Amino acid sequence: MSRPILEVKGLKKNFQVKSRKALFAKPTSVQVLNDISFELREGETLSIVGESGCGKTTLGRCIVRGMSASSGEVIYHAPGGETVDYLKLNGAASKKFRKDIQMIFQDPYSSLSPRMSVFNIISEPLIANFKLSRREVEEKVSSIAMQTGLNVSYLRRYPHAFSGGQRQRIAIARALVTQPRLIVCDEAVSALDVSIQAQIINLLKDLQQEFKITYIFISHDLSIVENISDRVAVMHLGRVVELASVESMFRQPRHPYTEALLSAVPQPDPELKKNRIILEGEVPNPANPPSGCHFHPRCAYRTEKCVKESPALREIGNQHYAACHYAEELTLRSARNEPRTEEGH
Ligand code: SF4
Repeated sequence: MSRPILEVKGLKKNFQVKSRKALFAKPTSVQVLNDISFELREGETLSIVGESGCGKTTLGRCIVRGMSASSGEVIYHAPGGETVDYLKLNGAASKKFRKDIQMIFQDPYSSLSPRMSVFNIISEPLIANFKLSRREVEEKVSSIAMQTGLNVSYLRRYPHAFSGGQRQRIAIARALVTQPRLIVCDEAVSALDVSIQAQIINLLKDLQQEFKITYIFISHDLSIVENISDRVAVMHLGRVVELASVESMFRQPRHPYTEALLSAVPQPDPELKKNRIILEGEVPNPANPPSGCHFHPRCAYRTEKCVKESPALREIGNQHYAACHYAEELTLRSARNEPRTEEGH
């Protein structure tokens, strides 16, 4: 097993939210990330999935310091064996390590400055992090452009001259140019056509092989997640409710929320669509989360215990973790919509 590159420990993020109706009322604190902990191994792809509003993008931004976490640690294991809290880096240490973790954003139309040429977009982090001659910068930008499938003769053009897929290649080239060890991809292909999505996913996989990159892949699309991931973490209302290898998660989910998400994965057999689990009710309000298990208002398997007691994330076996009181007892449907062999508990 490869060594850890990142350890997220007890990460929390609160937002202060003011009511629109009561203008003079004190803002209330909304917990968007609630005690997130996991380990990331060098060279793996860990996908973070969940419905819109579950906190997955906030988690990615807190890890790369695009947003400050309220508390917790992100321990980074540097190549030389040095270990640092990435969230507390400043001064020379910040300069030394922050280039090692980069982010690719969802929308290639808004994430690239329209006033900068592609060459300047890609070279900007290089110039900010390294002392290089003009010639060295040009060589590195040309090299990464070729590796990401961009035409080098177009580097003086501006982003508006490129298609969505080409823009995402520019964003990937910019993220890669400092030779990071870890890239957080936030819905990196969801704004693209299906055929372009496949090209970008293949590009990310090829680059991972070539440069031994570790990915955190944030996505709502479980078909893509199955294709690209080594492990998957499912988030619900700011918490990780299930974490397992992609095979274990898709073959034998242990949390009813995961079962519902997997049932929505498109199936080639139209008959299987009839088995889709429709979760009733709205996603709960993080400002006023339900008691006990936060998923209980929408869970078909809930009991009195679920309403009263919050289940901890615990290992069910073979590095498969789930936050459900009945994770061992429930026999949930897999991603292939195979029927349950027993009915709940
Ligand atoms: Fe459902 Fe109860 Fe498990 Fe929560 S703890 S997922 S409500 S069965």
